[in-house]
Amino acid sequence: MRQFGSFSDAIRFGARLTPNQAFRKFFEEGATCAAGAAIHAWLERPLTDDDVSVEGLKAFVKANHHFAYLVRVCVDPPCGCEGNIDGSIDPYTFEPVINHTLNNIIVHLNNVHRWSREEIADWLQGEEDKLGYVTLSEPEHTAESVDHHAAIPQRTQIRAAN
Ligand SMILES: [Zn+2]
Repeated sequence: MRQFGSFSDAIRFGARLTPNQAFRKFFEEGATCAAGAAIHAWLERPLTDDDVSVEGLKAFVKANHHFAYLVRVCVDPPCGCEGNIDGSIDPYTFEPVINHTLNNIIVHLNNVHRWSREEIADWLQGEEDKLGYVTLSEPEHTAESVDHHAAIPQRTQIRAAN
């Protein structure tokens, strides 16, 4: 499995793996939605029905616990929609939900407004930046290491999610 520092990075990587975008489904032949692209990138193989089953999605969310901000952080949708935004499910319960979590907005922008996966990744990256990433697996006393800063920063955890 390939690791990504942020979900937006995984969406971008996955969008390059399949030429077309899927709507209202995670994947179909040669296409993935924004979230499906991220899962595809993470798994490093084409998606199967098992991956997007309830259990498969639960396993994905749990295994990627540092992406928990997707289901915890609520923001105003960039499209301006209010109230019950369409197209969202809770990855833990698979029930329709109305919260404006980042996860729900990703699904909404993909399915309703048909933003491209790259556009969704750009918007999400802006929200991830606002959340204030800190470096994962990096002890405080080495934070100023020159060697570390020469490497590609790994942005993963957030300071405060709810
Ligand atoms: Zn909208």
